[in-house]
Amino acid sequence: MKEGRKPYIAGNWKMNLDRSRALDLIKTIKGRLGDGNDREVAVFAPSVYLADVSAVAQGSPLGVGAQNLYFEREGAFTGELSGAMLREVGADRVLIGHSERRHLFHEPDDWMARKLRAALDAALLPVLCVGETLDERKGGKTDRVLKRQLETALMDVVAGEIRRLTIAYEPVWAIGTGEVATTEQAGEAHAFVRRWIAQKLGTEAGEAIRILYGGSVKPDNVKALMALDDVDGVLVGGASLKPDTFLPIIEFDT
Ligand code: PEP
Repeated sequence: MKEGRKPYIAGNWKMNLDRSRALDLIKTIKGRLGDGNDREVAVFAPSVYLADVSAVAQGSPLGVGAQNLYFEREGAFTGELSGAMLREVGADRVLIGHSERRHLFHEPDDWMARKLRAALDAALLPVLCVGETLDERKGGKTDRVLKRQLETALMDVVAGEIRRLTIAYEPVWAIGTGEVATTEQAGEAHAFVRRWIAQKLGTEAGEAIRILYGGSVKPDNVKALMALDDVDGVLVGGASLKPDTFLPIIEFDT
């Protein structure tokens, strides 16, 4: 965490909760949120609940996002949702390239640039997820994988758009496994991403971009992660589903 970059705490609910539990959870979070001046908080809800969740969040600084979008504006794409559709039901942001989309649903690298463009054009704030698998880490390929994912996703992004973009570094082997990257591993990967952005889009962009860590973040490890210079926030899966675990993460001491 570094002055000038507002901490960003995001919950990814994935395909969890039902409507009534989602609404209870968002009400609780809203009730505990301050004025949003010192931290940005958002949840990425299942798309079918976006309208209801964003209606509850309205009037608060809480962000509400979708977990995915398709890059075309309309057409014969059964089951897919456009940026404009998500925006219309109250989303103000969207996850792009979550590892579950990349690995379970085989979304190719080259879709990410198109999804980023579609999100920005629909006035959604994208969170681009990148991260290596366990085999890639063991094979010493982490930097190479991050470089490839950043290069393909950000090829059309210009420096002026960087303040609307967030990157989430999520090592695939740490997602939902209870295994967290060490502060050294997270620090190195975040620094690599920031350097890459600075080289590609300029020093100012490198300083401004927020990079979240994701992968088994819990109340007891958030503080150590947030103490790292290049970690500007966290993307939280499992622990974002219950107030008991999500509120202490949101309210971590700086
Ligand atoms: C995620 O879904 O992006 C994630 C990091 O999940 P978890 O916190 O459960 O590892």
